[in-house]
Amino acid sequence: MKAGIEAEALEKMSEVTTDLAVRLAEPVGMIRNLMANKTSEAIALVGAEESDWPPCMQKTIGDLSNGINVNHFGRLFLASMAATLALPQESCVGFFRGAPDFSEATTSYQVAHVYQNEYTPAGCGKLKVNHNCPVLPGDNRTCDQPWMDHPLKYIRATQRWKRLTGRQETSTKSEDVNTTAPSKSNDESQPSTSDKADSD
Ligand code: SF4
Repeated sequence: MKAGIEAEALEKMSEVTTDLAVRLAEPVGMIRNLMANKTSEAIALVGAEESDWPPCMQKTIGDLSNGINVNHFGRLFLASMAATLALPQESCVGFFRGAPDFSEATTSYQVAHVYQNEYTPAGCGKLKVNHNCPVLPGDNRTCDQPWMDHPLKYIRATQRWKRLTGRQETSTKSEDVNTTAPSKSNDESQPSTSDKADSD
């Protein structure tokens, strides 16, 4: 099948004139850039640290480990988040080990099913309706943002904030080394609304 597609693509390429190639150059370049951005975002998600995980994910893990019975929607959400973040399947099964009805065989089977089928994690709206969103207005600045509608956006916003503050810290330190002028004081303890750029 792959060989067939390649042969067809090569045949079509022979029909592309120089004029058409020039006209296609710009849109093709834009598509390439978009794909490169999406790929790097996916790689960043895979490398997400535990401290980047959203409150809904952390609460589900915490409840399960404390023997609290999480509903089916919350369990599916947790497994699909673990799969999206490329956590090892055994780690995902481990999240459920404290559940009151835990069965190694059943959980392993269900987790494997979620990983194989690449379920998309539920968004904030559905998590709220199903009682799996633990935050209330004012509890969490990132969750309060008007663009926040998916837990994966929470992770991206947190990663972006860490990168920005990390970069600023590094540049402040190098300024301190290179000059005797006092550094500016900044309140950088919380993400600013500039994280809105992540709402795409
Ligand atoms: S607002 Fe969204 S990201 Fe934040 S805890 Fe609720 S469901 Fe999770």
